[in-house]
Amino acid sequence: MNNRYFALSLATLCLSTSAIAASDDASPSQNAMRDTLAYEITEGLTTEVGQRQGGTEAEQRGRDWAVAKLNALGFANVREEKFDMPTWVRGEEKAWVISPFQNVMAAAALGNSGSTGAKPLEGEVIYFRTLDDLVAAPDARVAGKIVFVDHQMKRAQDGSGYGQFGRARFIGPNIAAKKGAAAILIRSIGTDSHRGPHTGNTNFEAGVKPIPAAAISNPDADNLTRQVMRAKTPVKVRLLLTPQNLGQQKSGNVIAEVPGSDPSLPPIVIACHLDSWDLGTGAIDDASGCGIITAAASYLQNRPAPKRTVRLLWAGAEEVGIWGGKDYAEKHKGTPHALAMESDFGADRVWRVDFKLPDSAKPLADRIASKLASLGITRGKDPASGGADVAAIIAAQDLAVIDLQQDGTRYFDLHHTPDDTLDKVDPEQMRQNVVAWTMVLEEVANYAGDLSMAPKS
Ligand code: ZN
Ligand code: ZN
Repeated sequence: MNNRYFALSLATLCLSTSAIAASDDASPSQNAMRDTLAYEITEGLTTEVGQRQGGTEAEQRGRDWAVAKLNALGFANVREEKFDMPTWVRGEEKAWVISPFQNVMAAAALGNSGSTGAKPLEGEVIYFRTLDDLVAAPDARVAGKIVFVDHQMKRAQDGSGYGQFGRARFIGPNIAAKKGAAAILIRSIGTDSHRGPHTGNTNFEAGVKPIPAAAISNPDADNLTRQVMRAKTPVKVRLLLTPQNLGQQKSGNVIAEVPGSDPSLPPIVIACHLDSWDLGTGAIDDASGCGIITAAASYLQNRPAPKRTVRLLWAGAEEVGIWGGKDYAEKHKGTPHALAMESDFGADRVWRVDFKLPDSAKPLADRIASKLASLGITRGKDPASGGADVAAIIAAQDLAVIDLQQDGTRYFDLHHTPDDTLDKVDPEQMRQNVVAWTMVLEEVANYAGDLSMAPKS
């Protein structure tokens, strides 16, 4: 936390205790300008529930909290939709350099990592500067070794480095396992220089036995790289990871609605994810997103009702395989939807809007872009794509999408680390998100024109 955030947090706490009620006379977005609800939701969920890993009892407590909160806020049709999913949980995790230098590293197992068993595994490190270098290496060089992939993510406002550098985590362990590696360490997929490692899911192909797989913090990756370069003999590492697979466990989505006045118009679905990784309290990923979409939707509850129903999806088990988004698309495939949006990139300010709308809705896009310009938001040229939790329903129904792109400059300093905690949420930037979301929702939820992307005959 720095002093600026501390001062803003104090200001917000003072505001929320003075209980400024939404006025029925003001428009939804005028009311949103005084929003404190998004922060209150984020604070409540992270304080009263904490981490909410998919498939665990902690996530169930999160769903119970969400159902109670959404009911208390007056939303309609609040419900839990459960599903089963394979569940992996972290155990002990320790990593040491043992030869020719000695030190302890800050490490965290990746989701779906194999176990070393109770007795630590020891082995020689084989260094790869990039994932592609690992891909190109002959199996014989890798077999029996502890692979280290040093690929270093670069900072970008739009977070675009994640797709490229994230591959070391997404597919690196599977590639190393197929080459016969004993284990794999990756440099954290993150842009910070703290000693908090960045966890996240990895996947092994069917038939590939999971090997122990962990991320080490960026400073530890720097140090290990120097050690590999200086050592006259192979660098040796000792690794202890004891995660477990719990088999099929319950997860679920939480759904709530602002009912529209015209039931013939297909609904708009707006999403966040309720689950988080277990190292922090999931404040920026993604309690903030749930706070932002819920606060924005709450301002539409004032009379008159919007024409279209706005459905909130607090998705379960996103981090561990996007199970909630897939379950939502499967259970609701028979209901035509009009448009999807998601907030899952922290709580920093929205800087750009992207659209994927039918040509007939160009005046709607122009109107939204013009309103958002008052918040300093520019209009992008990329077609909107939505977020992970709405990807399946967008693909199934070829839905219209609007993306409110958040400033991701510091997102990957915190993402999936022990540092993902409430103090990193800037209440002023979060409020700007709520205003932008409310401006968009009051336009699209009252738009009676056709939003279908299907070619018109
Ligand atoms: Zn997320
Ligand atoms: Zn995440």
